[in-house]
Amino acid sequence: MRSVPEHQQHVNALFAAPRTVTLPASEALGRVLAEDVTATLSLPGFDNSAMDGYAVRAEDIAGATDGDPVTLPVAQDIPAGRTDHLTLSAGTAHRIMTGAPLPDGADAVVQVEKTDGGVDEVRIYAAVDTGAAIRSAGSDISPGHLALTAGRVLHAPQLGLLAALGLSHIRVYAPLRVLVLSTGSELVPAGTPLEYGQIYESNGAMLTAAATEAGAFAEQVHFVPDSVDEFRARLDEYVDREQGADLIITSGGVSAGAYEVVKDALTGHGVEFTKVAMQPGMPQGCGHYTSAAGTAVPIVTLPGNPVSAQVSFEVFVRPPLRAAMGLPRRRRTAHAQVTESFTSPRGKRQFRRGELEMAGTGAIVRPIGPPGSHHLAFMASANALLDIAADVEHVEAGSTIEVLLLED
Ligand code: AMP
Ligand code: MG
Repeated sequence: MRSVPEHQQHVNALFAAPRTVTLPASEALGRVLAEDVTATLSLPGFDNSAMDGYAVRAEDIAGATDGDPVTLPVAQDIPAGRTDHLTLSAGTAHRIMTGAPLPDGADAVVQVEKTDGGVDEVRIYAAVDTGAAIRSAGSDISPGHLALTAGRVLHAPQLGLLAALGLSHIRVYAPLRVLVLSTGSELVPAGTPLEYGQIYESNGAMLTAAATEAGAFAEQVHFVPDSVDEFRARLDEYVDREQGADLIITSGGVSAGAYEVVKDALTGHGVEFTKVAMQPGMPQGCGHYTSAAGTAVPIVTLPGNPVSAQVSFEVFVRPPLRAAMGLPRRRRTAHAQVTESFTSPRGKRQFRRGELEMAGTGAIVRPIGPPGSHHLAFMASANALLDIAADVEHVEAGSTIEVLLLED
């Protein structure tokens, strides 16, 4: 049997180095910057008002108070968006709105709340310091300065900055296109009444969501019964399309029984099937799928039991899939005190489901459900995987173990 790290290496080897692509900014959310971005303009681009109020010369209103206001004529009205260059004459004020360009000659803005809000003339009840409520050009960033470094994951604030810098297209690492295909003659789609012995197909939805959450463009291929011909035909339909695929993930049909469609179709055809010393998820396979037309695509064949499929995705697929898109490969981990004792099979790395809680004293993890790999409901209430080393057979309540967080 292969160890988990050994099989991880086999799966890792299927992935190429990240490719770069230039995307419209609107499609760049969650992608990773492939190059440094240097500002080519100033932010703010011009001196402007930080408040709704009146642009003035501070000296003109020195000494203004509630009891002894200063009254100035209002010579201009400057809403945000005015593009002409204005000059403030001594002894006058310009009514100005937040973000509007400061007129030459003004050196402060007095906020509207400290005035009577006048339109033709304004009564000002407070003095302000020179520079008050002015956002000066370049005080955020100026041309030639590094705005964002390569490798940065683009979330909302980063996309906001790139937009403010006027960038419509961004060079990022390309998202991978992942096909998810489930197999099994017992599977039926939601919306169809179940006959005895049939189940609703669930791995497709789960693995497509997992790959999407990992940052890929994942597409759920309509599942197939345990028929080698249908399996190949369905894959070819997708693999040979113009946009192709970067990775195929299958589930089911790889264990030791009969009717193992994935194994039957791909053994000796570029895919190596193996056993990995882990629970759940022992039967695994990976390699390349080659369509009838000759298109070769990396493929990872996961076991069909839903918990096995999910855990296998986490352990084998997610890290290199992320790395191939420039994204951080690892989930956060924690050391946590386990709330109850349990056993773990000799010689197998075990991934139990659990609920991690950050307690005052540190992290605590509660194992959820039995180890069986069909317990999808238990899995759905977990937020972490308990990572138990292969040589451990007993985990005692109160001991500290390594936990993989399944949620950000
Ligand atoms: P297999 O790996 O094909 O032998 O399947 C192992 C177990 O997982 C069986 O109980 C299957 O019914 C179940 N299973 C396989 N594929 C799926 C799927 N796509 N959705 C839900 N259960 C599945
Ligand atoms: Mg099956």
